[in-house]
Amino acid sequence: NNTINLKNRPKGRPSLDDFDITTSEIPEVQEGELLLGTKYVSVDPYLRGRMSDAPSYVPPFELNKPIKSGVVAEVLESKNDAFAKGDFVVGELAWKEKQVVKADGLMKVDPNQAALSAYLGVLGMTGLTAYHGLMEIGRPVKGETLIVSGAAGAVGSIVGQIGKILGMHVLGIAGSDEKVEMLKSEFGFDEGINYKTTENMTEAISEACPNGVDVYFDNVGGEISDAVLFNINKFSRTINCGAISVYNNTEAPKSISVQPFLVKKSSLMQGFIVTDFADKNEEAIQQLSQWLQQEKLHYTETIREGFDQIPQAFLDLFEGKNKGKMIVKL
Ligand code: NDP
Repeated sequence: NNTINLKNRPKGRPSLDDFDITTSEIPEVQEGELLLGTKYVSVDPYLRGRMSDAPSYVPPFELNKPIKSGVVAEVLESKNDAFAKGDFVVGELAWKEKQVVKADGLMKVDPNQAALSAYLGVLGMTGLTAYHGLMEIGRPVKGETLIVSGAAGAVGSIVGQIGKILGMHVLGIAGSDEKVEMLKSEFGFDEGINYKTTENMTEAISEACPNGVDVYFDNVGGEISDAVLFNINKFSRTINCGAISVYNNTEAPKSISVQPFLVKKSSLMQGFIVTDFADKNEEAIQQLSQWLQQEKLHYTETIREGFDQIPQAFLDLFEGKNKGKMIVKL
């Protein structure tokens, strides 16, 4: 049975050398435990933070121990009354082909309600991140302008669509013309900007948003965000969801120059962790499921196949090789 461990704490951009695969026997299932077979593995930008040992909101991964992330698994054997063989579960689990676990923190998922992989994306952590961040911090209002960075990714593509459902004018920022086209044609965004080919982002945003920016859902940080913030309106709200453009930096960032601008605009900027709003998860999942059923909300996935492809799929997030949620299928 194979396991993927963290071999080194990456300096700068992670590489395949930072992971290794080990093989071991599967232990026997004890009373209260389950044997799980991994079906789908979520790879996420936040895992980069857990590979370093800097203090954070979750403890770092230990060296030479398995990496963990969101996993959908099938119950292969159960000695726990709450689960039966053949059930599917989602939870934070190790990067192992099979594993014996206690059932704490696992949630049953229904393959007849939605595709199993959706419980790692639109009906899982990234869908909740999009919903809570926009609703709780963005406080969206019909007719306002919403900008989403990282717009073609798992979180961003859902944020922009919720904005449209709520009647906002939505602009997405992404890293290729193909992604920008997808935002408009598949996800109904009003406008898109390819940050890799746009020379002056501040100007491009100003042109695309003649009424300014009321809500900014920030997945990337760095210079893209500076350019958005130069265009914000009075009483605008910025949701600091993530900052993937700086996750691999080895030097402290230079101070940004937009702060005086935030003062002038009486603008709110707030970070959050999706679990901050866990008490509202049920309501969020209900709403997201309803929008999916009504076909008001759509999602896309980039699915890689094979256990040994997990590290490469993770690395490819930093190259923008995914559209929507990046998932590995076993
Ligand atoms: P995505 O599906 O958006 O994948 C990452 C995307 O980031 C890539 O596809 C790429 O798209 C873009 N990207 C990579 N490098 C850069 C760069 N240097 N500059 C700009 N864009 C870049 O990932 P998620 O949707 O899972 O996560 C999005 C953000 O949300 C991340 O910052 C993540 O850490 C954060 N997050 C925060 C949570 C919270 O609780 N606060 C929970 C979950 C996620 P492109 O081709 O457009 O460059």
